[in-house]
Amino acid sequence: MHQVELAGLTVDTRHYIGGERVASAEQFESVSPIDGAVIAHVARGGQAEANAAVAAAQRAFPAWRDLGPTGRGEILHRLADLVEANVEQLAQLETLDNGSLLRSHRRGVMPRVAMNIRFFADWALNELSHPVWQTRGHDNVVSWDPSGVAAIITPWNAPLMLATWRIGPALAAGDTVVLKPAEWTPLSASYFADLCEQAGMPAGVFNVVQGFGAEVGAALVAHPGIARIAFTGSVPTAKAIARAAAENLTPVSFELGGKSPLIVTDDADLDLAVEIAVEQYDNAGQVCLSGTRLLVHKDIAEAFAARFAEKAAQLVQGDPRDEATQIGPQIHRVHIDRVTGFVERAKADGARVVIGGGPNDELGGLYFKPTLLMDAKPGSEILTAEVFGPVLTMQTFSSDEEAVEVANATEYGLAAVVVCGDRERAERLTKNLVAGTIWVNCFFVRDLAAPFGGSKKSGIGREGGVWSFDFYADVKNTVYAPSGWKE
Ligand code: NAD
Repeated sequence: MHQVELAGLTVDTRHYIGGERVASAEQFESVSPIDGAVIAHVARGGQAEANAAVAAAQRAFPAWRDLGPTGRGEILHRLADLVEANVEQLAQLETLDNGSLLRSHRRGVMPRVAMNIRFFADWALNELSHPVWQTRGHDNVVSWDPSGVAAIITPWNAPLMLATWRIGPALAAGDTVVLKPAEWTPLSASYFADLCEQAGMPAGVFNVVQGFGAEVGAALVAHPGIARIAFTGSVPTAKAIARAAAENLTPVSFELGGKSPLIVTDDADLDLAVEIAVEQYDNAGQVCLSGTRLLVHKDIAEAFAARFAEKAAQLVQGDPRDEATQIGPQIHRVHIDRVTGFVERAKADGARVVIGGGPNDELGGLYFKPTLLMDAKPGSEILTAEVFGPVLTMQTFSSDEEAVEVANATEYGLAAVVVCGDRERAERLTKNLVAGTIWVNCFFVRDLAAPFGGSKKSGIGREGGVWSFDFYADVKNTVYAPSGWKE
């Protein structure tokens, strides 16, 4: 009951606390979005398991801290090696659990999981202690000291990739970790715990507590033993976490939702613009960074819409394990019903369906057709709320100033995409866009050394490179006087 054979792996679905597998009286089902089959029964934790995991992580902290970046780096590189050796199995497991494309998991996502660990292990070797500058002969020595136990709470749309984007720097910085994966996608985290053990990570350095809904997450973020809270997920959950964190003044790093614009100027390369726009359906639209609001200059709008519709119509939807598939299913029933609700309300409110417009009846199950809506009312729900499905809207603009104004007219500020034929014009446009990341004539290029995060309600703080260490560590300045030393 506690172990399930999937994708050639034996996955233990109990919690992983202090190096031990721990069962709970209750379990929840993990359902594959590919066909609705129940693929595992997973331990359903609560307050007691959260407490036990924090205690284990606290016990493990001093020794992990004292290992230093070199000692920790050796273990983290062995862990990355193990991820690389298991890319195929991890890819298959994740696809079964969250329905994202198998070929993306194989070629992009799982290799990136290994990189998330390697990159931060190496960064820690070089960057965690620096004599920085002198003040009247005094040395200012800045160090990034491990801060304690990090609670990491993650969503389902890219489970292991988003988890390791936080786990990599937290462990490299010398913190110990309690991970709470999303209830819709618990399995890759469970298997990852086995890899940590095989890599020789001491018991309690990395812990996984599984849970359904708010139970475990809420217990973790309210725990006074937590030094850092890294949360990736939705705005309503972030607000609940912020309230809990306030009690202990626990620092938070929030990566939240988006409603990002994709601006196409009248001098843009139209083929490139269409190609980038169609990419916004990646992961069946379940990407926080998607440029879901297409803002197209009015002079090219007709040509753009026609070419876009033609290209999007060719997208192959189906089983995410098939090499030819480009769009898989939505994560679960509640989610696809939510996506359908957004589109139905938009239609009732006067929006015109250019392509798609509802669930894919031929495929049934959780498949929603790639959809483009036009003529939605300014300020309406479909233009302002995050849908998190394969649903794009298109609006037109007459001047770059208007494009920026419409682009910024949202409570989010995660990302923006600009397709433009002139570098100086693009620089003027991007200067006034409010977003944590802007891609110009490209999409999804992400360097692990670059800052990543959202403005406005899309997040708090930045991670990546030194920004991650600034968050997970206690940054300390020690000032050494030039005098007072015995010979
Ligand atoms: P969610 O907020 O519903 O859940 C995220 C996690 O929080 C889950 O593990 C859940 O169990 C846990 N949780 C629920 N209630 C909690 C509470 N009260 N306290 C602590 N934890 C709690 O989000 P979701 O539906 O899993 O993910 C989709 C959202 O995530 C979208 O809004 C998307 O844009 C966002 N997202 C953002 C990024 C980014 O990098 N900015 C990346 C991926 C997804």
